Amino acid sequence: MNRFTVKEKKVILKEFNELLHIAENITDQDQRDLIRKAFNMAYEAHANMRRKSGEPYILHPIAVAKICTHEIGLGTKSILAALLHDVVEDTEVTIEEIQHQFGDKISAIVDGLTKISGVFVNRTDLQAENFRKILMTMTGDLRVIIIKLADRLHNMRTLESMPPNKQLKIAGETLYIYAPLAHRLGLYAIKSELEDLCLKYLHPQDYDNIVNNILDSEKRRLTYINRFALPITNKLNEEGFVFEISGRPKSIYSIWNKMETKKVSFEEVYDLFAIRIIFEPKPNLPEKAQCWSIYSIVTDMYIPRSDRIRDWVSQPKANGYEALHATVMGPGGKWVEVQIRSNRMNEIAEKGYAAHWKYKGATHHESELDRWIKEIREMLEDPRSDALEFLDEFKLNLFTSEIMVFTPKGEIITLPSGSTALDFAFFIHSEIGLHAIGAKVNHKLVGLNHVLQGGDQIEILTSLKQQPDLLWLKFVSTAKAKTKLKAAFREKRRIISVKGKIHLENLLVEMDMKPNSTVFRKLYNHYNTRNKEELYYRIGEDMFDQEYFKKVLKKRSLNKYIKFWGIGNQENTDAAKMFDKSKTLIVDDNMRNYNIASCCNPIPGDDVIGYKADDDELEIHKTSCPKAIRLNSSESQNVVKVEWTTQRILAFLGRISLKGIDDIGIVNDCTTVISQELNVNMRAINFESHDGIFEGTIDVYVRNASDLNTLIMNLSRVKGITQTARMEIKDHE
Ligand code: MN
Repeated sequence: MNRFTVKEKKVILKEFNELLHIAENITDQDQRDLIRKAFNMAYEAHANMRRKSGEPYILHPIAVAKICTHEIGLGTKSILAALLHDVVEDTEVTIEEIQHQFGDKISAIVDGLTKISGVFVNRTDLQAENFRKILMTMTGDLRVIIIKLADRLHNMRTLESMPPNKQLKIAGETLYIYAPLAHRLGLYAIKSELEDLCLKYLHPQDYDNIVNNILDSEKRRLTYINRFALPITNKLNEEGFVFEISGRPKSIYSIWNKMETKKVSFEEVYDLFAIRIIFEPKPNLPEKAQCWSIYSIVTDMYIPRSDRIRDWVSQPKANGYEALHATVMGPGGKWVEVQIRSNRMNEIAEKGYAAHWKYKGATHHESELDRWIKEIREMLEDPRSDALEFLDEFKLNLFTSEIMVFTPKGEIITLPSGSTALDFAFFIHSEIGLHAIGAKVNHKLVGLNHVLQGGDQIEILTSLKQQPDLLWLKFVSTAKAKTKLKAAFREKRRIISVKGKIHLENLLVEMDMKPNSTVFRKLYNHYNTRNKEELYYRIGEDMFDQEYFKKVLKKRSLNKYIKFWGIGNQENTDAAKMFDKSKTLIVDDNMRNYNIASCCNPIPGDDVIGYKADDDELEIHKTSCPKAIRLNSSESQNVVKVEWTTQRILAFLGRISLKGIDDIGIVNDCTTVISQELNVNMRAINFESHDGIFEGTIDVYVRNASDLNTLIMNLSRVKGITQTARMEIKDHE
């Protein structure tokens, strides 16, 4: 037994009494008794345990509880759960016991904390899976995640005693997941402390340099701030404001981050001053109006940059942040950012979500946060979404800054900046996203890839016939749109696969064949895949008839052709020898190395010859083509008689659908692009336009699917084109 010394017991009691003292104002006697009870339970349970540093383990839950109440502003329930947060995981105490002693709410929070507790494994996908679990618990009670953040903050503060490899791992994890999460919940103070601590362990040298630089320039900075603030202070006093002006430097991490990303020196970053004016609102006057009158006082002294006003008072950020930001020209020609906040706004800025609980009437922000959590829940509930993919998308949502846009009815929607009309469509409803064809932004017609600006009013145009396109993934940035799109594609692919599987099974029955390995090998070769899912999908896409499959399955194996053309045969490089002129070459669907000569554009059924070009590709010319005639006489050893047994692949007919903004010249631009593609021939073109949107299809002959894709990509670059996609052609003429 490793009982504590008298001195240690004194420390424990001192810490616990401090916790009680901090909580004094927000608790009554009954609640303090409960806190004592929880402390006793945790003390007994952790009695024999010590932290890596050697200190009694119980000091950790006490510290976490202190962070929860003192630094975040949470109440009794959180203090209880924080005190008990490690007992179920690390000791004999069961969750049932906690439920029995403290009730359902506390046991649910402790249970959540136990489930997410930090056994992060090194493999990224497991980390991602773990993170997903963390978020899953959020959908129950947000306190779970906040206490988890407090737990992590204390672990980071005491990281010194961990071995170096653990330090790196924990710091990496913190920077990757916990700091963004703290940011998203509006816990700015915790977020920057976490980041600074991460930097200290991940880049100790950089950290020390910045800390020393800050110390060196501290005096200069304070002098400047005083000089800047003095006239403002005088005026605010005259006007009877109760306020405080502070000029806290940027966090170490944010200085480092700016130096790294912008490749600038410490001085360049550091010289951007930010000054905060925090005021106690005068009674009977709206806070907003007071913010603006302080703004007016500041800009009477210093010239503002009109493009740098951020009004988070009229419209708070999604995480609840409220403040009025302005950038003005200070003495000595320096830009100074001035942040104007009431006490209430400041507390929200420091303590985030938890502070909202204190201020009644702040329902708007809670609903914003609820919406965010609901969105996460939707993503989590998609059973097929891949954990890592999810994590990436989720992080996207954590980091991006926001813009406010409007629905046609004037409702305000918050989206990450960089969002497109399609993101907006998915935000409104996934069905609207999946069927969107275009949008009107401020009454002007735009494509779905149109990037939205703050203040835009957006109306989405839909059509039930519309199907989501793979290219859409390139121009959505919100996690919701991506998740919904990917789910739609997976579903579509799954349906085609099932269709293909059934089709193949039916065909084999009709042909009286068994689905044995020989059959599959031939099909794998033919479709150039080894994957059953892929095979079914491809069959489902083609849906070729029995005749076609008979040929495929009766065909000699592809290897024969490869040998025939000398591909892969290293010993004999003389192509001519590989070229059996005495036989007619059958070019059918098994043949892949061919090219339709662009000089004569033969189509199936034409009388043609094959010419084996330098790159081992077969070039098919009309027998009557002047070039063919010349080749026949000059390089007859490389020319072979060709017979086309099927038209399907050699004359690959593709259909491309196009959508865009109706614009003079757009059709011309498209046909120009097509004519520039060497291996593409246009067969038909069909356009119509309505409501300023133009839609159409182009049928082209192409060599292979990859050429078709190239063409689609090039068409998608045409100005005004918003969508391009490959379409299935049902009836071959
Ligand atoms: Mn812990």
